[in-house]
Amino acid sequence: MIAVSEAQKLIEAHSLTLQVIEVNLEEAFGHYLAEDLNAPISLPSFRQSAMDGYAIIHSEAKNLKITGQVQAGDVEVPALNPGEAIRIFTGAPVPELADTVIIQEHTTREGDNLILNQIPAKNANVRPVGEQLKAGDLALTKGHRINEASIGFLAGLGFTSIKVYKKPCVALLTTGNELQERGAPLKPNHIYESNGIMLEMALKRIGISQIEKIKVPDTLEATVKAVKKALEQADVLLISGGISVGDYDFVQEALSENGVQEHFYKVNQKPGKPLWFGTQADQSVFGLPGNPASSLTCFYVYVLPHLRLRMGSKKPFLEEREAILQQDLRNPHDKTLFLKAGVDQNRIMPFTGQASSMLNTYAVSNALLIIEPHQTEVKQGDTVTYLDLNF
Ligand code: AMP
Ligand code: MG
Repeated sequence: MIAVSEAQKLIEAHSLTLQVIEVNLEEAFGHYLAEDLNAPISLPSFRQSAMDGYAIIHSEAKNLKITGQVQAGDVEVPALNPGEAIRIFTGAPVPELADTVIIQEHTTREGDNLILNQIPAKNANVRPVGEQLKAGDLALTKGHRINEASIGFLAGLGFTSIKVYKKPCVALLTTGNELQERGAPLKPNHIYESNGIMLEMALKRIGISQIEKIKVPDTLEATVKAVKKALEQADVLLISGGISVGDYDFVQEALSENGVQEHFYKVNQKPGKPLWFGTQADQSVFGLPGNPASSLTCFYVYVLPHLRLRMGSKKPFLEEREAILQQDLRNPHDKTLFLKAGVDQNRIMPFTGQASSMLNTYAVSNALLIIEPHQTEVKQGDTVTYLDLNF
C-alpha cells in the first residue's frame, strides 16, 4: 500500500502526452496547445477609431470644418488637414494626420461646421497599432487549454488551424453481475448501474467525448476478453469494480494476463483503497473501486490529472484551497481521508453520510475535504485543505 502523494507521483511519471495533431480552429475547443503561438499580425493592425465621432488633429480650436467621412471597412481614407474634422465610426481607420477622435456626444453639428463642446484629451479614442498585441509577440503558450475566448482571440489573429495534443479515447468497463440497465423495474437483488454514466459525464466535463462503454460479467474469461478488446481500441481504460480481493474480482488477474504492467495497487486512503494503476506501452489502465463514491473520488484525485497530463496540461491536479472547518473530526487510522463536503465562503462542512456507496451526499458536494494521515484530530475552527470540485 502506498501513500496518496506517492500514487500521484507515479501517475505523473506515467502520463505521456498523446500525439500532436493539427486541427482546424473549430475543432480545437477543449484541447491543450502543443506549441507556443506567436501573433502573425498586430492587433489592431491599423490605427482604429474606438468610438463614433470625428477624427481631428488635437488643438484648442473649437470650430472645425467637416470635410469627409470614413466608415469601418473603408479602404480609401480621406486626408485630414488642420482646421478640419472627418466623420468617423467605431472600427474605422483613423486618417493619417488625425491623432484624436472626439465622440459625437461632445459635439454639435451645423451643416459642415462642427462645434466641439469640450476639448478631448490628445490621442483619445484612437487604438494604436499593436495596442493589444504586436506582430511576433507571444499570443498563447504551449499547454494552454483552448476555450471559447482563446478561439475568438486566435480567429482575430487569422489562425485557421493550430497544433494541439490529441484527446484520449477512453474505454469504460463496468464489471458486476448485479448491475442492471435503467428502464425496467429492478430484478431481485440487482442494482441500477451508475458508475458508467457517472464516469462518462466526468470525462465529458474535461472535454473527452470518445468513450467506449463495455459491460463485463464477473468471470475471469469475460474480463480477460473485455480488457483485450478495450486495449485494441482505447488510449486509456477505466475499469469499474472487480479490483478488490473477493472471489469474483478478476480485474487484476485479467490485466496481468493481458500484459499490463502494474505501477501501484492499493493506496492508503479512504475511500478508494483498492485503486490499481498500470500501463502498457502508451496505454494506461485504472482499476477503480466499484463503490460509486470511491470510484468518483479516485477519478478526481488520480484519473482526471492523468488524463489532463496526457492531453498536454501543465496544471493537471484539481485546485487545492483552504477553508475553516465547521466541526471536530477524528482520523485515527493513519489514512488520507477525502470527505464529501460543502464549502460556503471560507467555511467547510463535511456531510453526514461518507460511506463509499453513497452518492446522495456527493450529488450536493462542491468540495472534497482532505484530512492527512498525521491529522488524527482536527478541530472546529482549524484551517483545512480541500479540492475544489467547481472546475
Ligand atoms: P466491487 O468493487 O466490484 O466489489 O463493487 C463494490 C460495490 O460497488 C458493490 O456493492 C457493487 O455492487 C457496487 N458497484 C460496482 N460496480 C458498480 C456500478 N457500475 N454502478 C453502481 N454500483 C456498482
Ligand atoms: Mg463486483
